[in-house]
Amino acid sequence: MQNTIGKSTQSIWGGEQEHELFERSTQVPVVHSVSFAYEDIDTWHKVALGEEPGHIYSRNTNPTVRAFEDKVKVLEGAEAATSFSSGMAAISNTLATFLKPGDRVVSIKDSYGGTNVIFNEFLPPLNIKVALCETGDYEQIEAEITKGCTVLYLETPTNPTIKITDIKRLASAAHKVGALVVVDNTFATPINQLPLTLGADIVLHSASKYLGGHADALGGVICGNQDLVHKVYHYREINGATLAPMDAYSLLRGMKTLKLRVERQNDNAMAVAQYLQQHHSIDEVNYPGLPSHPGHDIAKAQMKGFGGMLSFSVKGGLDAIKQFLPKLNYAHMAANLGCVETVVGPPVTTSHVECTAEERAAAGIPEGLVRYSAGIEDIEDLIADLEQALSFLS
Ligand SMILES: *Cc1c(COP(=O)(O)O)cnc(C)c1O
Repeated sequence: MQNTIGKSTQSIWGGEQEHELFERSTQVPVVHSVSFAYEDIDTWHKVALGEEPGHIYSRNTNPTVRAFEDKVKVLEGAEAATSFSSGMAAISNTLATFLKPGDRVVSIKDSYGGTNVIFNEFLPPLNIKVALCETGDYEQIEAEITKGCTVLYLETPTNPTIKITDIKRLASAAHKVGALVVVDNTFATPINQLPLTLGADIVLHSASKYLGGHADALGGVICGNQDLVHKVYHYREINGATLAPMDAYSLLRGMKTLKLRVERQNDNAMAVAQYLQQHHSIDEVNYPGLPSHPGHDIAKAQMKGFGGMLSFSVKGGLDAIKQFLPKLNYAHMAANLGCVETVVGPPVTTSHVECTAEERAAAGIPEGLVRYSAGIEDIEDLIADLEQALSFLS
């Protein structure tokens, strides 16, 4: 499907036209079969060698899973995509494919909590060096890249302080030293940001968030050129972090409304950010759509919409948010994000649960911070809900 086709059309038809569906069904069937049978050895052999299309064994490929991968591939404007059992599997398998002892990774301190654990705990014992830089300190990041690295790993906007990083600028620095640029696009989604057009070599997602959008299936996916994606696919097919067909189906179904949902979430997050910014119980609001946000200009240049994620700090710290959050009627207090319902939580129980209060302070995360994932509810109701819940603080 061409890149000129609109994102809603892509999210509905992408990946669904290339393959013959079961018995003229209009929806991608859930193929639970572990293996695929052949009537003659020669055809079986050709499919096994990849010389003819088809499936052999569902740890490697599966028709439902393939349709999901193809849909994301179309949305990201990529040549190829492969999927995983979770977002963390996508991240760990990608890093494991491209890094070997003696290599060096450059990234930012604000990447997703699980990704940070890989950088701080799992890679150093393998003799892989990791340089984690201040997000937004371009001089430092570029200096670390120039020392030489195998992978530049970025995430923008970040969690939970919603910082923005200029992908184009850093990708070009990384390519000068021959590094591979990997971007976690979970927060932005392909509706708001297309990292491959900004110089990324691999774009990856936790599909458990916005792509699925209904918080009912875990999954991960990466996109890039055929050669790079095949390398990661090969690692995953052997190591086995395969996406299950039923989850692929749930994600596929959720993705049909991706653009509708994300555009609504962009609007709701902007309105909530504007409302909170003028509220006397709120100290600061982090949302790239606000002109006061330090990354606003870069976000405007590299994103189509500013996303559904924001964070804000409440006067009175953790005690105040313990009082205020349970009063919300239309928000789950939960660790996920990117679904149709509004979801709220403090970093203490979500992104930075493993850290001490001192470590959170060092990372610039106030104890009174709230991460807010705007859902697709009516905006009047979300604002009225915040109004009544915040009134308990004054
Ligand atoms: C949730 C998340 C992940 C991890 O994905 P899982 O599907 O939970 O394994 C990675 N990156 C970001 C930005 C996330 O929000």
